[in-house]
Order: sequence, then C-alpha cells, then structure tokens
Amino acid sequence: MMEVIICKYAGFCFGVERAMKLTMSTLENNTDAKISTFGPLIHNPQVVKMLETKGVTEIRSIDDASGTDILIMPSHGAPKDLFQKCRDKNIRITDATCPFVRDVQNKVKDFISKKLQVVIIGDAAHTEIKGVVSWADNDCIVIGSEEDIEKYDFSGKEVGIVSQTTNNEDYFEKLANAIVRRAKKAVVQNTICSATHNRQESAIALAKETECMVIIGGKNSANTKRLYQLCKEANPRSYHIETADELKREWFAGAKKAGLTAGASTPAWIISSIAEKIKNF
Ligand code: SF4
Repeated sequence: MMEVIICKYAGFCFGVERAMKLTMSTLENNTDAKISTFGPLIHNPQVVKMLETKGVTEIRSIDDASGTDILIMPSHGAPKDLFQKCRDKNIRITDATCPFVRDVQNKVKDFISKKLQVVIIGDAAHTEIKGVVSWADNDCIVIGSEEDIEKYDFSGKEVGIVSQTTNNEDYFEKLANAIVRRAKKAVVQNTICSATHNRQESAIALAKETECMVIIGGKNSANTKRLYQLCKEANPRSYHIETADELKREWFAGAKKAGLTAGASTPAWIISSIAEKIKNF
C-alpha cells in the first residue's frame, strides 16, 4: 500500500472557511429568500455545484440580479460600485470578502489618499485583482510579469506597491524590487496572506521529501496553480487535479511515498477521497 502524506497546510484556508460559514448561515436564516453569489463564492467547482443544489445561483453582473434578495460577495472580493448598486436595488448583502483581500483594497485606497501611483503585482484577469483595481478607482498599474515592468516609465514616480494575496513571496519581492529601483519613491506593502505563505512553504518541503506530489484544487484557482508550479519546480512528478477521476495509476509507478496538498478552496472531503484512492494504487 502506498504511503500518502497530506500536507500540514492543505485545503480550506481561514478566508474560505469564513465565506462558507457566512453563506451557510445566510441560507439557514433566510429560507424564503432568493440568494445569489457574485461570481463563484470560492474557486472550487465542486463546492459551487453543492451550493447550486441548495438553490444558490451565481450572477456575473448586477443586471442579472433581478429577483435576488441577498447577494453574497465572494471570498476574493467584489468591485467597489457593486455595493452601492445593491443598495439602490434593495438587495441585501452578505459580504464574504476575506479580510486579507479587504486589507489590499484598503491599502490601495490609502495610497490614493497619499497621492501615490498604485501598483498591483498580480494577475489582471483574476477577480481579486479586478476588484482591487476598482477600489483604486481604476487608476492603477497591474504588473503580471517582469516584461510588464518594461512597459511603464516609473522614473520620477512615487508609487505604492501591493501584491495579489496568493502570490509567491520570492516572485513578489523580485518584481517589487525591480520597480523600487526605477521609481523616485516607493512604499511596498507585502499583502500576501499568511495562508498562502504557509501552504507554499509546506508544499515545497513535502514535494522534496516524497516521490510524487498531487496538488488538488480548481483549475481556475490562482493559489492552486501557484502551488502546482512551486511543487513542479521542487519535484517534476507533480500533478494538478480537481477530482479523484483524474488520477492516473502510472504517475505513481515505482513510488512508495506520495505527497498530497490542496488549494485554499478545496474541501476536506475531496482531499480524503483522493488520499484513499492513491493509497490503493
Ligand atoms: S487564500 Fe488568503 S486571501 Fe485568499 S481567501 Fe484564503 S486566507 Fe483569504
């Protein structure tokens, strides 16, 4: 039987746990209400499906909110103007924005009040960053790669730099330092959340000590994709899956010890079902 070691930090993080609790209590306390989430509550398709079975619908725009009584803002945050639009339409809000994401939003607001050019190091296409951009009144630069830095002239600029909460520390430091060297003045706020930091450190350590590494989580989950990249660098036999059906026996050929980690939106029941299946390979 294969030995399977589950990472010390794997699965639901504080922010996701909190978003799930807020959603469940909103459901319990408002049985007659039509409840929607703005986009997926968390980046895990299996959890989103489970919420659908409880009547929770997902909307992408306030224009789709007709009939909605309560709108739940997701753990990765929502655009600033959405809150007022809900109030205008008498839609109640359950705000499940993770406090770490709220902290990034507050920091960019603070930079703006200090007349600093806001710079966000992160993925412009990710919903967390789209939200943070709106909290910076759409007046900010998003840097997603070293090449992006070359597109802007930072000389003479006074900048305030924040990070997407799920970035890797080394990556953030490298890009932030490159901007600091170019700018006239820079205030750097490392807004990577502690859950991300702990997950990445423990996953890399486990990937190094095991023969194969499986990373579980939504293919749309930024923190899971980052975990996979880091594990793959530490151990080339690393594989990213969402469900047990995707496991392939040949990945574990000749291996006696496999490691398992999971992104911050992966529920415990998915982690344990996958661990069981690997043990029996
Ligand atoms: S990964 Fe971090 S920022 Fe994102 S929900 Fe979890 S604790 Fe919050």
